[in-house]
Amino acid sequence: MTNSTPIPGPVAPPRRILMGPGPSDIHPRVLLAMAAQTVGHLDPYFLKIMDETQTMLRQVFRTQNKLTLAVSGTGSAGMETVVANLIEPGDKMIVCVNGVFGGRMADVAGRCGAEVIKLERPFGEIFTSEEIEAAVKLHRPKVLGIVNAETSTGASQPVEDIARICHEHGALIAVDCVTSLGGQPVEVDAWQLDAVYSGTQKCLSCPPGLAPVTFSDRAVAAIDARKTKVQSWYLDMQMVKDYWGSNRAYHHTAPINMNYGLHEALRIVLEEGLEVRFARHQRNHLALKAGLKAMGLEYSVKEGQQLPMLNAVWIPNGADDVAVRKQLLNEFGIEIGGGLGPMKGKTWRIGLMGSGSSATNVLVFLASLEKCLLDQGLKVPAGAGVGAANAAYRATA
Ligand SMILES: *Cc1c(COP(=O)(O)O)cnc(C)c1O
Repeated sequence: MTNSTPIPGPVAPPRRILMGPGPSDIHPRVLLAMAAQTVGHLDPYFLKIMDETQTMLRQVFRTQNKLTLAVSGTGSAGMETVVANLIEPGDKMIVCVNGVFGGRMADVAGRCGAEVIKLERPFGEIFTSEEIEAAVKLHRPKVLGIVNAETSTGASQPVEDIARICHEHGALIAVDCVTSLGGQPVEVDAWQLDAVYSGTQKCLSCPPGLAPVTFSDRAVAAIDARKTKVQSWYLDMQMVKDYWGSNRAYHHTAPINMNYGLHEALRIVLEEGLEVRFARHQRNHLALKAGLKAMGLEYSVKEGQQLPMLNAVWIPNGADDVAVRKQLLNEFGIEIGGGLGPMKGKTWRIGLMGSGSSATNVLVFLASLEKCLLDQGLKVPAGAGVGAANAAYRATA
């Protein structure tokens, strides 16, 4: 060993405004909570934090489900947890694919040994109840998987009617609410959803690292009836629930400080109130949309199917995708997302998630984008975006 390699400097991230598809801006109270002293994963203090987190998660998911907890891992771990626990090799699963995350769910289902039936729609469109009903009748799956808020496209998929259809035909419904939870209504009990997963870094405004999940009694019965072990040791709910439940049996060491962060993030969500929070996401979405339209940009998802927290717009003719995003980041510290999959190079994805859904972010972004588009040689009426957004705010004040 030589000592010639210099020790890197300390972590000193630049200050950013996170307006991409996640992670979103973190509330400072969450960062502060995460810096608190680590205790043991069986310390009575931590067990109290876990209990409180479960109670708050049930409130945010709007469910009484006993099996509600935060999986150690990001949103994709939530997806794997749901699929791996519900699916045994040979089980049929319909996966609705109209974006990257539906595609990921189909991949996960295949790896769990499911006989996967992919129902496809072009990116940016949503599924109708009729086509889902026809597929469920034809294939009689054990599980149907669908994405409520497709972050890759910005499309909002209603799931209540689909849940009813699934149950009429003896299927369970698994729903990806990674981006919707905390930003628009997710009614686990009222919509009778069986297995739902989310992530911490979208509308909950907590760093990435935990995946809230919840399972209905129907889903728990399906897990209890398994003949084979869950293919993943780490994500096996039978064992994980013994740690989150009254047994407190050691399974894996919980990421203590991540859980502090989620606890604080959930407190903030409940302090604001879910309805008020949803209305805030909607108001900022409408103001952003008014501003973008006034600047000549168009949404890539149909009116009425757009997510308030993820605004996908066509990149205007004459604008260089990468150059504009680079300028936003370097000159203004603003991160937005580019298109994914077939939308690569075609759309920009502008996130207004959690505490990042603010009038400040909307107005600063529109003004900054105007400068970038002008530098690209595009004709943008001076101040049109900011003016239209302010008019929208004033109309709803
Ligand atoms: C972000 C996201 C995921 C994946 O979450 P990770 O935290 O990146 O693992 C899954 N589904 C949707 C809809 C997402 O937006």
